[in-house]
Amino acid sequence: MKAVQYRTVGAAPEVVEIPKPVPGPGQILLKVTAAGVCHSDIAVMSWPAEQLTYPMPLTLGHEGVGTVVELGEGAEGVSIGDNVAVYGPWGCGTCVNCAEGRENYCLRAEELGIMPPGLGNPGAMAEYMIVDNARHLVQIGDLDPVKTVSLTDAGLTPYHAIKRSLPKLVPGATAVVIGTGGLGHVAIQLLRAMTAVKVVALDVTEDKLELARKVGAHETVLSDENAAAKVRELTGGTGAEVVLDFVGVDATVKTAGAVASVDSDVTIVGIGGGLLPVGFGVLPFATSVTAPYWGSRKELAEVIELAHAGAVDVHVETFSIDEAPLAYERLHDGKINGRAVILPNG
Ligand code: NAD
Ligand code: ZN
Ligand code: ZN
Repeated sequence: MKAVQYRTVGAAPEVVEIPKPVPGPGQILLKVTAAGVCHSDIAVMSWPAEQLTYPMPLTLGHEGVGTVVELGEGAEGVSIGDNVAVYGPWGCGTCVNCAEGRENYCLRAEELGIMPPGLGNPGAMAEYMIVDNARHLVQIGDLDPVKTVSLTDAGLTPYHAIKRSLPKLVPGATAVVIGTGGLGHVAIQLLRAMTAVKVVALDVTEDKLELARKVGAHETVLSDENAAAKVRELTGGTGAEVVLDFVGVDATVKTAGAVASVDSDVTIVGIGGGLLPVGFGVLPFATSVTAPYWGSRKELAEVIELAHAGAVDVHVETFSIDEAPLAYERLHDGKINGRAVILPNG
């Protein structure tokens, strides 16, 4: 079968021919219908060899949707022909966090060497993929797989970030979304579907801001050195109750801190390595800063319910599996509006 692999540190991903996998006991084989292209993969492919803990070659793709085509011995909970989305942050399944379905915060994953598909284990950018356990699958029924696939990360990750801040997202409050790409453009829709706040979106190009407005941002601001002052102005001077940073570089975390109100939540989702100092008097009083990871199994089920309700519509650009390296190149160059999605089976 064809697969998109990261094979050489620092090199572009390659489309290669590898054997079709066979599901072991308890495992499920999916014929992949769609696989999303996330900016995290670009970060992974920029790491030096010392930092890269994943075995190489690595089949990419941590957003996947497919059809169940084969069950390993004893695998239960799904049936041949089911259309399913893959929950990516696999955990041990039994620690206290996994017991709550919060496998993204598994206490033992690192110790046990458990890694997500596409980020250690073979991922969804292939004609077929193995899922380790049926609990990592969510039924999508008749949802369009191409529009649904990115809800597993570009939907789930912002949903998890927004849920922590729901008590602050009351009518009259403002939420700032920094970076309106794959994750950010879904975050805007989730905020609109789940709250009645004012949504202010920041990005670096007019194209991205246009998409932000189209998907529901009330106000858009170019992300430059004047951005913080403009956002504060839009909040009547008091700042935003919730700031979601989907870039996470020094410049954006600085903006995030500068637009935060007293008793606000600043959530750094982007993995750009920016540092935001926290200490008495550094940020407005009682500002809470966190850097979460992905989301829980229950939250993915909730995001899929939102899709069934018609509340989220991922803006997708599709590519064949042979075009996957081009999709990564375009994402790297900031030329994807919304999410790039690979169709491994045409
Ligand atoms: P993307 O490339 O689709 O979107 C990023 C957006 O940020 C683009 O629209 C880009 O124009 C914009 N941007 C770049 N610099 C900016 C700046 N200075 N100010 C404002 N906007 C700027 O990327 P994505 O796939 O949506 O991922 C977003 C980030 O989230 C990445 O860092 C990714 O690695 C990270 N991520 C984190 C998690 C997590 O669990 N914490 C999960 C998924 C992705
Ligand atoms: Zn991702
Ligand atoms: Zn666990």
